[in-house]
Amino acid sequence: MSDIKEITGKDRLCEEDIIRLLSPKDDAEEALLFKMAREVKRSHVGGAVFLRGLIEISNICQKDCYYCGIRKGNLLLRRYKMNKEEVLSAARKAYEWGYGSLTLQSGEVRGEKHIAFIEEIIREIKNMTSGSLGITLSLGEQKNEAYQRWFMAGAHRYLLRIETSNKGLYRALHPEDHSFDHRIECLHALKKIGYQLGTGVMIGLPGQTIENLAHDIIFFMDVDADMIGMGPYVPHMDTPLGRGIADIQKVTSANLIMALKMIAATRIVLKDVNIASATALQAIDENGRERGVMAGANVIMPNMTDAAYRRYYQLYENKPCMDEDSEACRGCLESRIESIGETIGYNQWGDSPHFKKKVKDVSSC
Ligand code: SAH
Ligand code: SF4
Repeated sequence: MSDIKEITGKDRLCEEDIIRLLSPKDDAEEALLFKMAREVKRSHVGGAVFLRGLIEISNICQKDCYYCGIRKGNLLLRRYKMNKEEVLSAARKAYEWGYGSLTLQSGEVRGEKHIAFIEEIIREIKNMTSGSLGITLSLGEQKNEAYQRWFMAGAHRYLLRIETSNKGLYRALHPEDHSFDHRIECLHALKKIGYQLGTGVMIGLPGQTIENLAHDIIFFMDVDADMIGMGPYVPHMDTPLGRGIADIQKVTSANLIMALKMIAATRIVLKDVNIASATALQAIDENGRERGVMAGANVIMPNMTDAAYRRYYQLYENKPCMDEDSEACRGCLESRIESIGETIGYNQWGDSPHFKKKVKDVSSC
């Protein structure tokens, strides 16, 4: 059986290698996995951590994913939608603080009114910042036309997690009318339009195996992802999946460690992509996001959403910084990043070298 150092040195890894990376034998080997991943990060994407200010535009969702706290079937939740001025004011703050880039996220809503609303926001953010603030969207499955219009308006990255690359598991986590194949079609459409493509999975889902996770990493390669956003599954009590989990503490602690191993293995296999250290890590351990960076992640998404709305955007329980405004989160984040010996890449889009290489390839042929 190959050891972790030997596997890290290989150019192409097979499924067996990935499973091996995801299964360190003891604490010492686990520490070695994280160390190797951090070295790969430094040599392929550099030492900086890039920021994407996260604006949670609305918790209104037309979907009913069994794991998610803002699914439409959760009738206990008060729904909100930020207005244009509120979104622009959060965007302005991110710009002034030198965050370089934004992520606009929301529950999944389709239709002309929503498309036009997002389109206008993207244009205004671009105007307000002379085009300098990068814009990532995370707005779920949409028609090609919507993706196209948002791209033309100035968004350049799109994050759509596949959630799990195992079709059977996907089926078990979603109602009948949520289609795995359609999600894949959306990923291809986004790529074709020219977005930097982000995808990812939840880690520690009931019924998920190490083999499934290894396959997820192969899936990231196959769709040619430029960025990965993945994190631990954190049960939410007002969801069908969360209600079925007896010992939440045990589940979340195990999921945190597995998520860190996934970040490390993904870094070692994909090398030059951007990998986000998900906020869900911090929901389990207050140092979770720093641990993600130490395991190979190079992107953090500080929350810019107004504290008044934040409490209603709980995809999972224990969402961190619930009562703090973004100013307080800002100071806290900086000192946390510095405390682990990393630097923040202010005022930069922080595109992955993986994406930059492709742009170069296209323009040189
Ligand atoms: N509606 C959009 C974006 C918002 S949801 C979409 O679904 O793409 C963003 C992500 O939150 C989802 O992709 C899912 O992976 C994650 N999420 C939802 N519920 C979660 C939970 N209980 N634990 C951890 N992550 C969760
Ligand atoms: Fe809606 Fe996204 Fe939650 Fe699914 S994961 S219910 S699409 S917000």
